[in-house]
Amino acid sequence: MYLLLCLSVFAVGYLANMVMITVCYHRGLAHGAVKLSPLTRKLVIHLGLWITGLTPKAWAVMHRRHHEYSDTPKDPHSPSNVGLWGVMAAQAVSYYRTMEGLDAKDPEFTRFAHGLDFDHTWAHNRVVRTLPYVLHTAIAVGIFVGFDAFWLGLAYFVGLMSHPIQGFLVNSLGHSVGGRNFETTDDSTNNAVVGLVVFGEGYQNNHHAYPRSAKFSFRPWEFDAGFVACVVMEAFGLLRIDYPQLIPDRLPVASLTPEQPAVRDLEPVLVQEFVAADSQGAQGPRPAQLAPMPAEKVAAVSRRVN
Ligand SMILES: [Zn+2]
Ligand SMILES: [Zn+2]
Repeated sequence: MYLLLCLSVFAVGYLANMVMITVCYHRGLAHGAVKLSPLTRKLVIHLGLWITGLTPKAWAVMHRRHHEYSDTPKDPHSPSNVGLWGVMAAQAVSYYRTMEGLDAKDPEFTRFAHGLDFDHTWAHNRVVRTLPYVLHTAIAVGIFVGFDAFWLGLAYFVGLMSHPIQGFLVNSLGHSVGGRNFETTDDSTNNAVVGLVVFGEGYQNNHHAYPRSAKFSFRPWEFDAGFVACVVMEAFGLLRIDYPQLIPDRLPVASLTPEQPAVRDLEPVLVQEFVAADSQGAQGPRPAQLAPMPAEKVAAVSRRVN
């Protein structure tokens, strides 16, 4: 019974944290893949910091910079710059630098704040930004001391404040370990385990190929719990999914070009899949299996860095 209570408390905290970060901050504020209702947006702006320990504006700006400079030297948290384990420190340092950059109105940061028309300077204060951690630590210690329930207090704290671990898993393994469905100009990968644990966020390759899609999964066996949360929240009128921007169900037929006849011959099954593609997907990125473009990748990356 005690174990069940601990698991339930952890699950509720983790669900609240995940919905706030992956649905509201990421798919909502950073990419506009879902449009938050006025009420949801207000709750996110005023409550987000207290549920996640992260301010929505700084998080969204840092994340947009990650997409802009993905896996180049200016990426805020790329394993190709700092190594797998270095991502943990890099994401924390980058987050605080983002807050300072926004407060100083540094164009390198403010130019990524379009559409984030709310002031969050107050939350960047050195004292204020630690308060969510102080609050949740105090509650956890209160549970431990008051009810002599160490594991329950720990379940409460970890459920709500595990964002550094989630971020580490996504930003390190999601850019180094796993397969790729699409040829993108970064090192993004699809990591099913991280995808399962962090509500679809492990499918970084799919996401970098279609950043405005509310759905991060592509193959039938890929599961994105974050998108399920979007669908449920839409049913309750809390947000609206941008359906035309969704990742297509099939690989795009238009990505086959006349210059690739040999690839057509080699991949008959995939070609079949392409023929079933819808016109929406025809505008999408090339599938990785059919279009390995190392030279173009290098050119694109150096273009973005310079
Ligand atoms: Zn990424
Ligand atoms: Zn993103």
